[in-house]
Amino acid sequence: MPNAHHRCEFFQARSVWKAMPQMHPLYMSQAFVDPYVNCAFGCVYCYGFNRFMPVEAEELSDSRVGVKTNAPFLLAQHLKTLSSPVPVVLGGVSDPYQPAEEQFCLTRRCLELLIDAHCPIVLNTKSALVLRDVDLLAPASEKGLALVNISVSTMKRSLSDWLEPLAPPPIDRLALIKKLSRRGVLSGAVIAPVFPRLTDHPVDLRLLIRTLAKHEAAYALPSSLWLTAARSVKPETSPESGQDATPAHGSDEALFWKGFEAVLSQNRPELVPYYERLAGVENEVEYMEWRRNVWALLTELCAQYHLPMNLPVDGAFSFSMLPETVLK
Ligand code: SF4
Repeated sequence: MPNAHHRCEFFQARSVWKAMPQMHPLYMSQAFVDPYVNCAFGCVYCYGFNRFMPVEAEELSDSRVGVKTNAPFLLAQHLKTLSSPVPVVLGGVSDPYQPAEEQFCLTRRCLELLIDAHCPIVLNTKSALVLRDVDLLAPASEKGLALVNISVSTMKRSLSDWLEPLAPPPIDRLALIKKLSRRGVLSGAVIAPVFPRLTDHPVDLRLLIRTLAKHEAAYALPSSLWLTAARSVKPETSPESGQDATPAHGSDEALFWKGFEAVLSQNRPELVPYYERLAGVENEVEYMEWRRNVWALLTELCAQYHLPMNLPVDGAFSFSMLPETVLK
């Protein structure tokens, strides 16, 4: 059932297919399909709600989960227009197996449609509900047409309790990777985000990578905290009619930053000045230096534990490349 903190709001979406301007270098995909808006797991670092809210749901508050009741219908219509299968990220913006899915099964229906259309699928989740759909995922994965990314930012409950207050415990998510792998679904971890001075300690990162290897993760894809939030970037695009909203950087990032800063103040107030400094435009060099160091450490650890830093897909981007050249 949907989380008690989040009420569901139903609406008819205008589109469930968000095409990307180019092949995503990490996910090797060309489109996002998200049956839900917002997410009941309430991670403090989530930017999905603010950045990708569909125009139809613009009145939705962040304590509501938007349920695109017509998502399978729209997806079926869209798939008919494709001349060949297109690789898709299912749940790139909101968790497709968040509690509402147990009741509404929209992700399962979209998954069936994408598999029927032979579209390669990259699925992102933190939820064990994904196991419900192993009957669909395992045969697709066997043909190289589906893999599941499990997202984890830390193994420390003392941090995840306030960074991801309503998400399943980190150790359960790691166990999920093993369960998926054992049941024939290619699965790895997205280590996202890595937080400066919170989750980036070498001892903690080593423990995380070692545990991922032990839980049979097929790969690890790290991503650092998006610290452009406090920078005054102007919006690049505006919502298109009939499409999900495209990212609008400036104001939405500022909103994200405001929310994150408030939670940081409550839990680790001594870090607020450091984060403010790191996020400042004038301190980009310091921020990039931090990213470079974290990437170097992760690259070393992943090599040591034989964890590839890219999807096992032809042409997939590897995180062992320098982050500033590709991840801006
Ligand atoms: S699980 Fe993912 S989509 Fe849901 S709140 Fe957390 S980061 Fe956002």
